[in-house]
Amino acid sequence: MKEIILIKNGELALKGLNRSTFEDMLVGNIRRRLKDLGDFEIRKSQSTIMVEPGEDFDLEEACARIGKIFGIAGYSRAAAAPKEMEQMLAAAAEYLAPTLRAARTFKVEAKRSDKQFPLRSPEICAQTGGYLLRRFKNLSVDVHKPDFTVNIEVRDRDIFIHGPQVRGAGGMPTGSSGRGAVLISGGIDSPVAAWMMAKRGLALSAVHFASPPYTSPMAEKKVQDLLSRVAVYSGRIALFTVPFTEIQETIRDHCPEEFFTLVMRRMMMRIAGIVAQRDNCSALITGESLGQVASQTVYALGCTDAVAQMPVLRPLIGMDKDEIVRISRMIDTFELSSLPYEDCCTVFTPRHPRTRPTVEQLEKVEAAVDWGDMIQRAAENTKFKMIY
Ligand code: ATP
Ligand code: MG
Repeated sequence: MKEIILIKNGELALKGLNRSTFEDMLVGNIRRRLKDLGDFEIRKSQSTIMVEPGEDFDLEEACARIGKIFGIAGYSRAAAAPKEMEQMLAAAAEYLAPTLRAARTFKVEAKRSDKQFPLRSPEICAQTGGYLLRRFKNLSVDVHKPDFTVNIEVRDRDIFIHGPQVRGAGGMPTGSSGRGAVLISGGIDSPVAAWMMAKRGLALSAVHFASPPYTSPMAEKKVQDLLSRVAVYSGRIALFTVPFTEIQETIRDHCPEEFFTLVMRRMMMRIAGIVAQRDNCSALITGESLGQVASQTVYALGCTDAVAQMPVLRPLIGMDKDEIVRISRMIDTFELSSLPYEDCCTVFTPRHPRTRPTVEQLEKVEAAVDWGDMIQRAAENTKFKMIY
């Protein structure tokens, strides 16, 4: 029996004029993510995307991956039967047998998008229900709260038979909102922030600041591993690792301790902005959450925003730590994030950071040094790695 995957679009169905562009993007994303699973074909028809496997296609793995592609509201595996009732009924009984044998009650829902088909939906339901009742003596019909719903969809080429739809990852197709660069540390927050913005349709680039020898190569490896977990959802991520030691040492040697973190964060914003612009990004993304630490008060955020050349998206801004942790567990980054490697943020931490800094104070503190060349050097000497 031919088995396929039926995919229902998410929010992109609302996009009116742009709809077909969005759909094409989603189809492209699906194609890329299933590429190594064998031969398959993708078809679009009537706001449904169909994945039709060829010979040695790994359907199981394909479903697992489809569950993590943004822009998909739901999907189901379905049997494709010929458009003839006798054959369809036999196929339905065979395909759904394991589930129907285990159920006590069921109902049938039919959709006829091919209006040429001789039976109308209620007739299809009645005939299918009657047939399954005769074949499975354990079953009775319950239209209100059935154990199992049999779905019959009469389409242009085939009739599809399937059980309930599995919920998809939701959101919008990655890339449909443009591209953003996430400032990625090894912590819990920034991978979650990256995932959330990818969910809203941003393709991802990533910028990581490393300060060897204060930070270890293991910390960089950890960031790469974290990003590859995010890439399961977002697709590939261009990672730029910025050499940050010179700037951090200069901050340590020339700025008052209480401003260390804030000056560092402003330097990060400036460099990330240059790297991001070069990689065609239109926004920066951080894992900041209001009040979580001294550098995340509204005053501190104001000071970092003051030097940003593009919008800074902070999807976690209103979230509690436990809500963030819940997502990081769900996307499988929590354990990795909890590994203990030094981040550049923890290298020279002030004992008493300023929590109510002003832009004027920071500008004065920074005026002690000519940062221009150092910033350019850092932005030019990034290491690049594509993360899959
Ligand atoms: P996280 O769990 O993401 O590390 P955090 O609560 O530890 O966040 P901070 O260390 O203050 O917070 O960093 C705030 C944000 O700044 C991070 O979410 C991340 O976006 C960015 N950031 C911090 N350190 C780095 C780094 N080494 N490279 C790139 N971005 C960083
Ligand atoms: Mg951190």
